[in-house]
Amino acid sequence: MSHIITLIPGDGIGPEITEATVKCLEATGVGFRWDRFQAGAEYMRRTGAPDPLPGEVLDSIRRNRIALKGPLTTPVGEGFRSVNVAMRQALDLFACMRPCKNYPGIPSKYQDVDLVLFRENTEDLYAGIEFESGTEGFGEINGLVAAHCQRWLRDRSAVSVKPISEFSSRRIAQYAFEYAEHHGRRKVNIIHKAEIMRLSDGLFLEAARQVAREYPDIWYSDLPIDAICSELVINPERYDVLVLSNLFGDILSDLCAGLVGGLGVAPGANIGTHAVVFEPTHGSAPTIAGQDKANPTAMILSSVMMLRHLGEDAAADRLEGAVVDVLRSGDHLTADLAPAGTEPVGTQAFASAVVAALESPSPIAR
Ligand code: ATP
Repeated sequence: MSHIITLIPGDGIGPEITEATVKCLEATGVGFRWDRFQAGAEYMRRTGAPDPLPGEVLDSIRRNRIALKGPLTTPVGEGFRSVNVAMRQALDLFACMRPCKNYPGIPSKYQDVDLVLFRENTEDLYAGIEFESGTEGFGEINGLVAAHCQRWLRDRSAVSVKPISEFSSRRIAQYAFEYAEHHGRRKVNIIHKAEIMRLSDGLFLEAARQVAREYPDIWYSDLPIDAICSELVINPERYDVLVLSNLFGDILSDLCAGLVGGLGVAPGANIGTHAVVFEPTHGSAPTIAGQDKANPTAMILSSVMMLRHLGEDAAADRLEGAVVDVLRSGDHLTADLAPAGTEPVGTQAFASAVVAALESPSPIAR
């Protein structure tokens, strides 16, 4: 049986890392049929298409329920909202899951980091509700703004709105606790700034605390966003599952990627009730695009998450083991990981080394 997967190579380094990842996936022996689509800023520029996220891409994901995706960039200054945000909202991909784990062979200041970050994906400042002074929308909130500071009325100013609902806050917390319960994770931390955003983050925190009471076997705590930033750079190995609202989740994901070797090795998945889109944490890295320099590890590890989601656990273990073997050997490291004075390998050579290692990969401890 073949799995039918929507494949979106994306922009910048996307096509190169997608080619490398498909090579590795097909070498596992699992059957795939790729429903391949173009999207994003480069696709628009190349084809003159009117929309960076064509409806047929969303239809394909709705049909197949699973997609593997490279980074998508948004055309700048053409009035489009972020393509990635639009996709998450259109498919209600409410949970962004980003595991961050130290692998042997990946240079890092830390050892023993093994945490999973869950970011609420549909609300918060990503809702795109913004007003600029002098516009009609701004007029509606003039009174509120003026009550705080007259200068905001006289100067050019802008307001972004952070909507948070109890439903979505409960939903992301529940997903994270369920994950913890089913994957042997013992601790969940809810991250917030409720002492400042008393209503929006206050609601997020209150909803998460209620959910926590439903999982008495999981140790629970909450921490302000500023406190967790300092905690994570000092003792990251103490953390297990983190739950965050959208913007804090975006920022902390990159910090956590930095704990385990950088953006080139940080995988992810955007999860909804009807579809899941697997994609690396990083963006399109345009400065190294088209040069065979990008590290495909983040996307290959995202595809390992996809294999597990498909129930192909044996293939997932083998592919993860093969990636670890290649990294540990140190002979085939891409430019972002290769130590000074050593010769880095290219994107496709890294993938070929992983394919070769798939013959007899080391077992993976899970
Ligand atoms: P975008 O505008 O799409 O977010 P960006 O370059 O601003 O692109 P990222 O793509 O997330 O942001 O990456 C920031 C930097 O991290 C890149 O310039 C690159 O140096 C590095 N980087 C990201 N992904 C990779 C990768 N897969 N391999 C090697 N380096 C990477």
